[in-house]
Amino acid sequence: MTRIRQAAVIAGALILTITQTGCMQNMRIGSQQVVTGNQAAVSTSAVSREAAASTVENAPKTESAASAGTSSNAETTPAAQTVSNAETISAAAAAAGTAASPAAEEVTSETISWNPGWEYAAFSKINSGTATLYHAKPTGARGKVVCINAGHGTKGGGDVKTQCHPDGTPKVTGGTTEAGATEAVAVSSGTTMKDGTPEAVVTLKLALVVKDKLLNAGFDVLMIRESEDVQLDNIARTVIANNNADCHIALHYDSTDWDKGVFYFSVPGNESYRSMEPVASHWKEHNALGDAVMTGMQAVGLKLFEGGSMEMDLTQTSYSTVPSIDLEVGDTASDYSDATLNVLADGLVLGLDKFFS
Ligand SMILES: [Zn+2]
Repeated sequence: MTRIRQAAVIAGALILTITQTGCMQNMRIGSQQVVTGNQAAVSTSAVSREAAASTVENAPKTESAASAGTSSNAETTPAAQTVSNAETISAAAAAAGTAASPAAEEVTSETISWNPGWEYAAFSKINSGTATLYHAKPTGARGKVVCINAGHGTKGGGDVKTQCHPDGTPKVTGGTTEAGATEAVAVSSGTTMKDGTPEAVVTLKLALVVKDKLLNAGFDVLMIRESEDVQLDNIARTVIANNNADCHIALHYDSTDWDKGVFYFSVPGNESYRSMEPVASHWKEHNALGDAVMTGMQAVGLKLFEGGSMEMDLTQTSYSTVPSIDLEVGDTASDYSDATLNVLADGLVLGLDKFFS
């Protein structure tokens, strides 16, 4: 902080030295100060991003603090005496702006590796991959971690089967796997958009847009997949979210071809399913999350499919211990231009805002 302020004042002082004096000695002092300033600037960007972030917050307050602090510094005292407060402020603001300008630099991240000791971990068959937890700045601004799970994208996931329910009971609805089955593919390959693009490519594109918007909104974000492939099956993705996030949003496109609109898969109104743990303890919050997200989607003008929900017995929901939905943002005929993905992401952030407020 102090070094940043000094650098800012020095920068301001330099401008004045050059513009107000033709004296060689002063010019030389100016040059030395530039070096000092540059060194300070370099170390500032290498130092913690937290320092940069607090500088931004404090920038408006540097008016008197910067001047007072600088006048005690022997090296910059002569120059500082010629700098008016107003100029110091703008120089400080410019320096702070430069140090903190790329939003991405304000974000820190950590790798989340698989922990076989987590509840339900033993049901996963593919879990050699890792997820990444991104922290918004300032850390925990919202105090909530949102897990964004770009649907599909696990090579070999269709050749492996996992148990549909932790208690071994059969599925109560159809879907990718028929009702009555006790096992389903660990991760399916997903559908294909009308133009031939795999669903997994589009869900990833959307996930990356959502990630940035959530971080900007102050949420921490747990990203399950940020490239073409991650070796985490649906149970692994769910268990990772359970242990590292406050909610879990899986992004998908449905396999129909008439641009049906946005909806989420709600928890089936089936007594035996709703009485099975962990569904029994969490199904209400899954549906509440879905309803909040649909409110956000409507608020940004998106079309909902049949009120925004369809009952489905999913592996994800069957193992979720945090509010969790499979969000179908459209189908194979839906537009997925950058503009549309932006609107979808805005709707999702609005919905999460509502859910957590
Ligand atoms: Zn899907």
